[in-house]
Amino acid sequence: MSKIDLSNISHSYNPNETNPVYALNPFSMTWQDGARYAILGPSGCGKTTMLNIVSGLVRPSAGKILFDDKDVTDLKTEDRNIAQVFQFPVIYSTMTVYENLAFPLKCRDFPQNKIDERVNSVSETLNLKAFLNQPARKLTADQKQLISLGRGLVREDVAAVLMDEPLTVIDPDLKFRLRRNLKEINEKYKTTLVYVTHDQNEAMTFADNIIVMSEGEVVQTGTPKDLFERPNTTFVGYFIGSPAMNLFETEAVSQSEVKIGSVKIKTSTDLSKIKNKKIKLGIRSEFIDVIEKEGENTVKAKVKKIEDFGNFKLLTAVAENFIIKSKIDREKPISDGEINLHIPAEKCCVYENEKLI
Ligand code: ADP
Ligand code: MG
Repeated sequence: MSKIDLSNISHSYNPNETNPVYALNPFSMTWQDGARYAILGPSGCGKTTMLNIVSGLVRPSAGKILFDDKDVTDLKTEDRNIAQVFQFPVIYSTMTVYENLAFPLKCRDFPQNKIDERVNSVSETLNLKAFLNQPARKLTADQKQLISLGRGLVREDVAAVLMDEPLTVIDPDLKFRLRRNLKEINEKYKTTLVYVTHDQNEAMTFADNIIVMSEGEVVQTGTPKDLFERPNTTFVGYFIGSPAMNLFETEAVSQSEVKIGSVKIKTSTDLSKIKNKKIKLGIRSEFIDVIEKEGENTVKAKVKKIEDFGNFKLLTAVAENFIIKSKIDREKPISDGEINLHIPAEKCCVYENEKLI
């Protein structure tokens, strides 16, 4: 396993044209040895490009890749000691499941007892033990993907296992179990795992560290809690969470207050240095509550819709011309008419030019 540094990396697939398009804008980042990362962002934002730069399939237009402080930028994939799992399974169809899993170890001349031990352990974790002697081509699509995953996981000596949307072909129930298995593998073998996905739930349930990308930029790196509570940009607030963060066009009216329509809302942000009074206020629907009496930081609103999601209710309300969404306790009685919504100051995020102040 290795610590991986991406230092001032950027990439264009057409660097020599007059107007090169950058699939990745310059960024630097460190992946700690043994941790679990998810690279999360919509299709086309540069996730695969980033992963392929680490594995060596793509050479970055600028910057360096270091494994344990050793520059590997010019090393070929084979020489980087990386295991990569792709969206669709790659298996040796003429071999048995056992032979597929053993292959990376055989190629590196591991002793037979070590091969047996690793193949047994990994096949147990991935529920492939019963199929070890079967020809790999006879297995279902998701089992084949498990073999691909397994081949990445059998080697203890890899710098990292890189997975690019690996569970796309796998059904939802099994996906959940597999993500848990991957976590177990990470804890047991201390394998650095990097998991690319466009699905926030996958990212949040799998990783301790999430790298959020948008249009070739790394917009935030943090824990699920960081991304949920303090999104760095309005994009992260909108992209992470369900429903998306409430975002209001507001105006600063004092050093800590903004106005939503005609209502003043206190925030815990220092607004004394903003350049433009027009700023955005972000607040998660989870933090907005319906309260009896109006008071500080309450907004009068009309109930527009209440959706019952079983474990909570999602309330959509209208205040002047703002739509406010609030997640409320499913037992809480809500009147049909006018209600008071409380927006806690300490949960407010304020954005200037879409960036958190
Ligand atoms: P993601 O994996 O997040 O969907 P990619 O890294 O595949 O994103 O792509 C990022 C951008 O680079 C996209 O605009 C895509 O069209 C472009 N791109 C990806 N691969 C190539 C390539 N081989 N040649 C030219 N452009 C590419
Ligand atoms: Mg991709």
